[in-house]
Amino acid sequence: MSPISSSDELLRRDELAVRLTAVRQRISVACEAAGRDPADVTLIAVTKTFPASDVRLLNGLGVTDFGENRDAEAAPKAMQCADLDLTWHFIGQLQTNKASSVVRYATFVHSVDRLRLIRALGTAARRAQRVVQCLIEVSVDGDPARGGAVASEVPALAEALMAEPGLVLAGVMAIAPLGMAPRAAFARLLESAALVRALRPAAMVVSAGMSGDLEDAIAAGATHLRIGTALLGDRGPRVR
Ligand SMILES: *Cc1c(COP(=O)(O)O)cnc(C)c1O
Repeated sequence: MSPISSSDELLRRDELAVRLTAVRQRISVACEAAGRDPADVTLIAVTKTFPASDVRLLNGLGVTDFGENRDAEAAPKAMQCADLDLTWHFIGQLQTNKASSVVRYATFVHSVDRLRLIRALGTAARRAQRVVQCLIEVSVDGDPARGGAVASEVPALAEALMAEPGLVLAGVMAIAPLGMAPRAAFARLLESAALVRALRPAAMVVSAGMSGDLEDAIAAGATHLRIGTALLGDRGPRVR
């Protein structure tokens, strides 16, 4: 990076600052309505398709948590930002053969949805001498096609995570499915969250809420929001 900021970079910083203020405002209004403290809600900036320079600018504006959904994009981006004190969240469908790469930079993996992946992540975490916070992704409409475990599988996955040195059972995650009201979707997620907490009371993370439904997620009790478009702008037609 050049030591002198270009005017493009200043413009982008201003745009990100305006968007961040608007998102923080939405969070604080939703927390107020729900009787919750905004300090209990972590904002994860989902930077997929956007460059490492945006990560730097957002970090300069106070954002510390970043989310990515493809290892091929996330690994080099995390490397380019290795001088910053960031927490990376892997939020996309994860193939077992990417586990050893992901554990090198991700503190959280939100998309743990099957036993084979738990074993691969556990092995990779121990080899890398890393501790990975794992969320069980729940398919709240029971359709596992897009990833996510069905609710009945959650207790067994939670037990498997607790048995795996190097992995920590941290909570649950869901994406509200198209065609289902976000409130209903997040209410179902909270049922799985309760099952997980019954097994491990410290597993308090509820990752729910994207640009379009963060208010519903906060009302339901989300602790972590994954916000892309509202913070960074449109990704274009290529990526969901
Ligand atoms: C892209 C993505 C997000 C962010 O979605 P926006 O609607 O752009 O806020 C959140 N969660 C996951 C799993 C994603 O892939």
